[in-house]
Amino acid sequence: MWQKDEFEHIAECVDGLREEALALASRLVSFEAVPPESGGQGEHDKAKFLWEYLKGKRLGDLQWYEAKDERVASGVRPSIVLIVGDGSPRLWIMSHLDVVPAGARELWKTDPFKAVIKEGRIYGRGAEDNNQAIVASVVALRAVLEAGLTPRIPVSLLFVADEETGSNYGLKFLLKEHDLFERDDLVLVPDGGAPDGTMIEVAEKTIAWLRFRVLGKQSHASRPDQGVNAARAAAYLTTSLDETLHKTFPQKNALFAPPDSTFEPTKHQANVDNINTIPGEEVFYFDCRILPEVPIEDFEDVVRRVCADIEKRFGVKVEWDYRQRQVAAPPTPEDAAIVIMLKKAIKEVYQVEAKSMGIGGGTVAAILRDAGIPAAVWAKLEETAHQPNEFCVIENLLGDAKVMAYLMGGR
Ligand SMILES: [Zn+2]
Repeated sequence: MWQKDEFEHIAECVDGLREEALALASRLVSFEAVPPESGGQGEHDKAKFLWEYLKGKRLGDLQWYEAKDERVASGVRPSIVLIVGDGSPRLWIMSHLDVVPAGARELWKTDPFKAVIKEGRIYGRGAEDNNQAIVASVVALRAVLEAGLTPRIPVSLLFVADEETGSNYGLKFLLKEHDLFERDDLVLVPDGGAPDGTMIEVAEKTIAWLRFRVLGKQSHASRPDQGVNAARAAAYLTTSLDETLHKTFPQKNALFAPPDSTFEPTKHQANVDNINTIPGEEVFYFDCRILPEVPIEDFEDVVRRVCADIEKRFGVKVEWDYRQRQVAAPPTPEDAAIVIMLKKAIKEVYQVEAKSMGIGGGTVAAILRDAGIPAAVWAKLEETAHQPNEFCVIENLLGDAKVMAYLMGGR
């Protein structure tokens, strides 16, 4: 851990780097690092720029990794690691280079790929997601070095490709092809959080998006005896699933809001065009978010059983499949070193008590947790990611840099 006066000096250095942080953040917005899935060329040019920038600042050893991807002109999806110090456990701060598309331009008040600094904010696509983290981590390390100190634990800043569209060319590629992490490493992913900076995300629910298809027999509505009404069976199936799933899985987990598993009937596909026809087919969907302690097999058993009941009762056939199935990774323990250190750092910098929490599902940290590496997701965010007029609050960027610099002081 830093001495009190050491950290005060580091924090001053962070503030002293404000103009440079703004310049770097502005430059990063100018790269349209949109993935090929959205018709973009990926993060290559942005990575190249950052590489040159980091090389010029001589902050540590640089490594360039690239996953091949023929869909983009450069042919590769690059990730960068900046390494300071040897050994483990190592503090990792992982941010992502790619951004989502700007979306409807008429909703933007300014050019999404030209940063505008106004009223303490930086506007632009990617400004908050995830440039705030990229810049904060660089500023944190620079401030420590400028204060004439070196991190008390080995530190790596990791800038990955392809976070927004599944991480196959980013984190998953690095885990598969390169042996970067050790199991007792400390990993911070500053890519989620709350406006007051109190939310440390350590767990997520399993995501299960189910499609149900109920097959009966179409007939005239005056002759139900000649048909098999798929609408009725589907209605009973919906309520039966709703009731049975909630009854079978009543567990509560205070990490989450809401604290229980959720089972929501959502989309319903159009069936027949007229009122006087009994539909022979119904298609509808459930969005289920299941607590990590519930085995997915148990959930699937219930779904199968309820479907079989409805088939027997109404003479229909029920098919179901997954539109998305993402089994929750084991949560990062509340007493994991990264969580404890983060809470201390957040308290020191922002004077708030942070809490470990779970979310509805789907962060990149789950990939690390699945690999047995405890990761915590935290940043102080206005949560403007993916929205038009996305912005980053400059004080959040500098504050987060101080938190990261604090972590570099070790335990
Ligand atoms: Zn992000």
